[in-house]
Amino acid sequence: MACAECNKQLDYSENKRSIDSLGVELCSSHYKRMIKLMKSHNTPKEAIQLYYGLKEAGVTAMLEWWDGTKSIDIAISRVKLNIEIDSEYHMMTHEQAINDLEEAMHSFKNGFTTIRIPHVLIKYYLKETVNNILGIMEGLRVHIKAI
Ligand SMILES: [Zn+2]
Repeated sequence: MACAECNKQLDYSENKRSIDSLGVELCSSHYKRMIKLMKSHNTPKEAIQLYYGLKEAGVTAMLEWWDGTKSIDIAISRVKLNIEIDSEYHMMTHEQAINDLEEAMHSFKNGFTTIRIPHVLIKYYLKETVNNILGIMEGLRVHIKAI
């Protein structure tokens, strides 16, 4: 049991609290920092889980990255990849759909790729999700080189 951020050894209660609420092993200080971030940005806990899943796979990402107009759940700046976690499944209205499409258009124009991942995917298929993101990054890297 060690903190996923700083590698500090965790005691049982520290570990349990963090696993129960975030699903990630974090020491008290990093746990508090995450809770604060989640509260201020309305970050879904799946974003935290994916962030650490990527970190474990050797990917440096940023949580709640401000792109100038909005906060991105997870950004991998090296390959200009933005990841948004869809935290709820509800019927999408046409207003939301056109807003999403417009956002995608703006980010493409700026050279960014945005993918949206349903939160249930991270819950049930974290490893596969990370592997697919690694594949997307690889594809983007080849693309960036080609330009
Ligand atoms: Zn820590």
